[in-house]
Amino acid sequence: MYGLMQEHALALPLVFRRVEQYFGHKRVVTGRVDGESAVTWADVCARTRRLAAALDRLGVPSGARVGTFGWNSQRHVELYLAVPCTGRVLHTINHRLFHEQIRYIVDDAADDVLFVDRSLLPTVWPLAESFRSPRHVVVMDDGADVPLPDDPRIVGYETLLAEVSLFDGEFSIADENTAAALCYTSGTTGNPKGVLYSHRSMVLHALLLLMTDTFGISERDVVMPVVPMFHVNAWGFPYAAMLCGADLVLPGPAMRPAELITQMERHRVTFTGAVPTVWRGLEPLLADHDLSSLRMIVCGGGAVDDALSRSYQQAIGIPLTNAWGMTETSPVVTVPRLATVHDDLDPDAQRAVIGSPGLAVPLTELRVIGEDGTEVAWDGSTPGELQAAGPTIAARYVGEERPGPAFTDDGWLRTGDVATIDGHGYVRIVDRTKDLVKSGGEWIPSVELEGAIMADPRVAEAAVIGVEHPRWGERPVAYVVPKPGTGLTADDVREHLTSHVARWWIPEQVIFISEIPKTATGKFAKRQLRLQHRQDIPPEE
Ligand code: AMP
Repeated sequence: MYGLMQEHALALPLVFRRVEQYFGHKRVVTGRVDGESAVTWADVCARTRRLAAALDRLGVPSGARVGTFGWNSQRHVELYLAVPCTGRVLHTINHRLFHEQIRYIVDDAADDVLFVDRSLLPTVWPLAESFRSPRHVVVMDDGADVPLPDDPRIVGYETLLAEVSLFDGEFSIADENTAAALCYTSGTTGNPKGVLYSHRSMVLHALLLLMTDTFGISERDVVMPVVPMFHVNAWGFPYAAMLCGADLVLPGPAMRPAELITQMERHRVTFTGAVPTVWRGLEPLLADHDLSSLRMIVCGGGAVDDALSRSYQQAIGIPLTNAWGMTETSPVVTVPRLATVHDDLDPDAQRAVIGSPGLAVPLTELRVIGEDGTEVAWDGSTPGELQAAGPTIAARYVGEERPGPAFTDDGWLRTGDVATIDGHGYVRIVDRTKDLVKSGGEWIPSVELEGAIMADPRVAEAAVIGVEHPRWGERPVAYVVPKPGTGLTADDVREHLTSHVARWWIPEQVIFISEIPKTATGKFAKRQLRLQHRQDIPPEE
């Protein structure tokens, strides 16, 4: 027997209607290269309606991917609304990726149109020749003094909006499983992989963020996503702000620590989130700014360092709140809260709880699978692979006919993180099985880096591991076996890499050894190398 309730699709037009109907008076502020702009949500909604008409004018078909290379900005928010609410797919692209990866991603997604912030043109335009699919490149003027290429594909965002009259109907998505957004992750081995979010997953994720025991985001908040809008939809913060009518402060290209902290202070930001490297960068400035408005700082995408969290607590009265998630998980899956069971803990222990990944948000299920393939006990000490299932978790990657090796036979996502779960469901990440280094929130594939090092004829073997780093979270360390008689130095290795990989991939530490330890099957024993590194060398400054 079916229930007799209305079958309303959980789709982003509901979010648009809510912010347009109820919260038109609330604010959206954007940092620009040349200052700042402030508008109301009513302005954003009216411009979204124009943008919807402009996408029609450009002839962007339903279901087509609309690629964006953008900072966190009002225009990016307009794209967040107009693209999915008209049945197209918003494809946010990380402009910091290696050029080959960007090229691969634009091709694989077959983006029909690209929207590019003017300050990012110097990165994107040199690649444009090699993009196969985009018919237009729409430039969003963020105040950068960058010349516009003389090319028929270039269109100005404001010109485009000025040329159309706004769409005055109701946005409608009939099937909630329609694709809404696309984000590629390079946090896997091989080429980046596309994660295709549905309207349903986006709406559910936004609702989950509002829950009191998640982030409790409300109309009274001033939300500032420092996490980029190309990184898993800025962790869903913009949609959450729209649903509840919070003010939104977007840093735009003004991403230096001094600029970020000034914006937080000036706009009395109450809720913000970014990767650990950002919070490390702001820490020396805390004493000189009034951040008393902040009620929660989310430090996600990597572990929280307790010393850093303590500095925040001492300087502004609140510690850093960790959260765990992945591109494949929309992303927020676990958030720590001080529950009744933590009431008797001393302040340091309570800060440690807040600095741990925490427990799963409602609707998502977690399990930890041990080496024997069975689920381990939730005892807080037995580690295994963390696996996740739920309506905001990917079922497979773009282009896969059936779920690939990242998914289990019973449909759970294999996260590649090694974790323990305690008796109350609190997760702790203890290691990673995926062979990747996360530096400043961005991935470095160690296997590719090893390949680049071994491309030097003076190298016999090389293995790369990620080690903790106080500023970047992790940095790659290369273990290298030189060929006899070559006299290879660490500088030689780095010099060789400059023409093979992105500059930020190049390891500061190159350690020469006589042999790379191997597993029984002849693979590099990275676990052993990591242990060896921890014993031999204290974390570097
Ligand atoms: P991404 O898909 O780029 O967002 O990266 C997701 C990965 O970042 C996870 O699989 C973890 O390896 C790492 N990560 C995310 N959140 C945390 C956290 N709270 N603690 C430790 N590692 C994390």
